Amino acid sequence: MEKVKISEVMRIFTKSTERTYPAPYDKDFPIGEYIEGLEKDEYGNYVLRIGDSKTAFTCHLDTADSTPKKVYHVIKDNKVYTDGSSILGADDKAGFTIMYFMIKNKVPGIYLFFLEEEVGMKGSEYFVKNEISKYDIQRVISFDRRDYGSVITYQLGSRCCSDKFADELSRQLEFGKLTFFKDSGGIYTDSYKFIEYVPECTNISVGYFNAHTCGEYQDIEYLTFICNRVLSVDWENLPSERNPSEKEDLFMQRYNSFYDEKGRRRTVDFLKEEDFLEDEDDIFSELEVYRYVDNNYKIDDDTLDRSIFKILEEEKLEGFENI
Ligand SMILES: [Zn+2]
Repeated sequence: MEKVKISEVMRIFTKSTERTYPAPYDKDFPIGEYIEGLEKDEYGNYVLRIGDSKTAFTCHLDTADSTPKKVYHVIKDNKVYTDGSSILGADDKAGFTIMYFMIKNKVPGIYLFFLEEEVGMKGSEYFVKNEISKYDIQRVISFDRRDYGSVITYQLGSRCCSDKFADELSRQLEFGKLTFFKDSGGIYTDSYKFIEYVPECTNISVGYFNAHTCGEYQDIEYLTFICNRVLSVDWENLPSERNPSEKEDLFMQRYNSFYDEKGRRRTVDFLKEEDFLEDEDDIFSELEVYRYVDNNYKIDDDTLDRSIFKILEEEKLEGFENI
């Protein structure tokens, strides 16, 4: 029996995405209207503790927009779109919606609502530098991954959680048709800031698509599934294997040729300038996908990132990581 109903998820999600909240933080998202008892750190991040938990859950309150805008929702088949005049802000009000229902259902945890993720994870950076010692955090779960089913094991090419942790979490989240898988193609979110301090850090798919564009949309049915599944996970007893002081990189140099330090995809022009790209033709044949982008073909973020990671995985198999 579902505890969280799709109509409630739709209500909280659409209400919290009524306007965009660009960082630098021009105006506080009115989080107090939704959740009582929040504390605020000096930076402005919000924190709520429930019970005696070593699990931190994170989302961010800012959205990837340049100026605040009213959002005009278009709802079709349990998916929420905009009218095309703005982004939606499902990145990351989807994460906010999940944490709202976890708190409502009193799931023990350390709930962290970060500011300024979109402009360099500044809120979470402040937290790990100034606040983390006040807590005993053993795992960090961000709810800020696009698409369905990912449990992120690497961010920016760096290992963020162990396979054992990801496998067990996937197993516990799974329900009927809803399956999860280890995804090494994580780009960039708040839990990345914790990987030097906390053993197991991940990011989970929350069912938004085309983030940072006016074509952004949210699958509310999937979001409702997640809102319910997270209530039954045994968070405190998930396996803990990764040693945060040991860094494990996934073909970092090669990764950096595709993404900049903020996880943004580089352009073809940049790749041409890179010294180590000796044979331009080779690069361009394997980067067919970049050509599409250059020629203004439409290809969604997900397909593009998956294609790049496929290339990276293949090169890793060939020992490319030793360069
Ligand atoms: Zn995000």
